[in-house]
Amino acid sequence: MFSNKDIAQFANLETPFYYYDLSLLQDTLGACASAAKAYGFHVHYAMKANFNEVLLQKIKETGFGADCVSGNEVKKAVEVGFSNAQIVFAGVGKSDREINESLDQDIFCFNVESIQELEVINELAAKKNKTAKVAIRINPNVDAHTHHNITTGLDENKFGINSWDLPACADMLKQCPQLEFVGIHFHIGSQITNLDVYKNLCVRVNEFAQWFEERGFIVRILNVGGGLGINYHQPEAQIPDFEAYFKIFNDFLEVRSNQEVHFELGRALVGQSSSLISKVLYVKNGKKKNFIILDAGMTELMRPALYQAYHQIENLSKREKGIAAKYDVVGPICESTDCFGKEVEMQETSRGDLIGIRSTGAYGEVMASHYNLRENVRVAYSEL
Ligand SMILES: *Cc1c(COP(=O)(O)O)cnc(C)c1O
Repeated sequence: MFSNKDIAQFANLETPFYYYDLSLLQDTLGACASAAKAYGFHVHYAMKANFNEVLLQKIKETGFGADCVSGNEVKKAVEVGFSNAQIVFAGVGKSDREINESLDQDIFCFNVESIQELEVINELAAKKNKTAKVAIRINPNVDAHTHHNITTGLDENKFGINSWDLPACADMLKQCPQLEFVGIHFHIGSQITNLDVYKNLCVRVNEFAQWFEERGFIVRILNVGGGLGINYHQPEAQIPDFEAYFKIFNDFLEVRSNQEVHFELGRALVGQSSSLISKVLYVKNGKKKNFIILDAGMTELMRPALYQAYHQIENLSKREKGIAAKYDVVGPICESTDCFGKEVEMQETSRGDLIGIRSTGAYGEVMASHYNLRENVRVAYSEL
């Protein structure tokens, strides 16, 4: 991914910084858009994966909608220029203010996660004399076979409405004149690499769609969420297999002619198009371990500390040399979990070497924090 020219350019920039490869981003967006188009599927970009404005612009230009999980994300989507009619708003804890502001924006739909939330949206919409479009987020109890911290579609998870609550949910919908039911929504987890998981999801979606139709509801939207994973072990593989992914839904979802299929992809669209570039501050050889101490830490990239996420780590200054040692690669933050990788095989490394931490485009920059009073995270972009 990195040319020698890139690396020479990195040496002139203050580290750490996120480096975005905009042409890879463009290619990834294009691959997704054309694969979705082949089946007439609609894609919303899950903004929480990365709300860097340079990226949002490109994503908007692709024609995707926006999937938001906070009122500020809805605002940002509108500001960036996503069409209001293509903005959806999910989340288990939407505040009254967030609901009111989204009603004012006439967004496409609220993905509703509890029966009480239906009542609240109905009330707030009534005050504004508006009708709110809602989809019911159902927890389908499908195992995503991913890390337990990023699983969302099991009975024990907080997300969505459980199947046993659906009769009460249907009753509530019928009692809420300000709500227009548009369909059903699912999102079972993130970094899903076993596509069979999606077959199981399709079976459940078909059952729930039928359940609602049997009770007199018209299910216009089948929103199956996102979660498609990327290959963190092979950043060079780069563009996810969107065709295989969409094909599963085409093969296993029962879609009627009046129905639309919606997707909410985050990670798969942006994950591979960035690396975190950092510099080695110190190399410390211990009795049991050798440590590389970087100028980037969990304040720049939290995923390893938050859910033991793997990222490939490369010494960009010593690419021509052979693998010579094992290091624990850590950051400067005062936490033992501030570690990017243990026993990482690398070239003999020294102070000042540039290190690339790969596949950091999703849930990277957006999770940066000021813990330890760290500075705002820096960014740099490739030329297109
Ligand atoms: C996070 C999220 C997504 C996107 O998940 P990815 O794994 O990044 O594709 C989609 N829908 C909802 C409701 C989400 O919360």
